[in-house]
Amino acid sequence: MVISEVHYPKDLSELFDILKRHPDALLYAGGTEILREQGGRAVELPETVISIYALPELRRVDLTERFLEIGAAITLSEILDLGDTALPPLLAEALRGIGTASLRNLATLGGNLACRSRFMDAWPVLACLDALVEFRNAGSSAWINVNRLAGQDGRPAAPIGGVMTRIRVPLERWDATALRKVGRRDYPASETAVFALAARGEKGILAEFRLAFAGETALRLEEIEARIIGRSLPLSERERRTFGGEYREAASALPRGLALQFGALVEAALDILAR
Ligand SMILES: Cc1cc2nc3c(=O)[nH]c(=O)nc-3n(C[C@H](O)[C@H](O)[C@H](O)COP(=O)(O)OP(=O)(O)OC[C@H]3O[C@@H](n4cnc5c(N)ncnc54)[C@H](O)[C@@H]3O)c2cc1C
Repeated sequence: MVISEVHYPKDLSELFDILKRHPDALLYAGGTEILREQGGRAVELPETVISIYALPELRRVDLTERFLEIGAAITLSEILDLGDTALPPLLAEALRGIGTASLRNLATLGGNLACRSRFMDAWPVLACLDALVEFRNAGSSAWINVNRLAGQDGRPAAPIGGVMTRIRVPLERWDATALRKVGRRDYPASETAVFALAARGEKGILAEFRLAFAGETALRLEEIEARIIGRSLPLSERERRTFGGEYREAASALPRGLALQFGALVEAALDILAR
């Protein structure tokens, strides 16, 4: 059994000092994902663990007219407590669907997005909303689009070695949104995935159309989106069938059950735009 040394830095600069000495240390936020598959009597953790749950730089929330900025160590319950006036409805709905109330009291948004074994439920919504995440390490910081947390192969690809500090969610008007969780609802099982859609029309033209689906792998097909955007509303029957077919084809690499559910959800989404 490994005896772990747990560090509790008081701020980011102390965290970076510890990371310099222990580059392989495990960042521990709510710990719900880290401990998810540990059913034994004793918890197994690596030699060095750094608790980031109370870091002040990761615990801030900032609301402006244009965006909501959420510290990575803010819990899902705390985010939901911000209420409907601050929170984009699509994000609120996704967070409400995660685990149980007691899990949401511990689980953080940063931990949800930084998970490397699969995509958790916040990713598809934040990908549709074009949210940005800030990663920092000792010498630098960078904002990256949440969509870049998925690699070319559709697998999680969060940067290694830094800490996610903030998530910036643009506040925009949407005319049509949809969120659907398929498979097991209360646990990240292999057949569980989340479908999210956000669309906006302007003067009879489809001005924005974003669609994301993710479980063990992520689908965000920006090349199809680019061809749908700019079309007159409502979409014609022919456009609906063409784009539905393209999405279904792109999803053919998914496990069959997920591909079928994705196809049906895309069809329902395109139906809304064809009315
Ligand atoms: C019973 C159960 C049910 C669950 N149901 C759901 C569900 O329905 N939907 C869902 O999405 N998830 C679910 N989860 C998974 C998990 O609870 C959530 O994804 C949660 O948001 C993870 O956050 P955390 O703070 O607990 O992460 P942690 O467990 O602390 O960390 C997860 C990973 O992210 C890394 N990390 C954490 N914070 C940062 C940061 N700021 N910067 C860089 N790396 C970081 C950690 O090193 C670790 O690798 C469930 C878990 C359990 C145990």
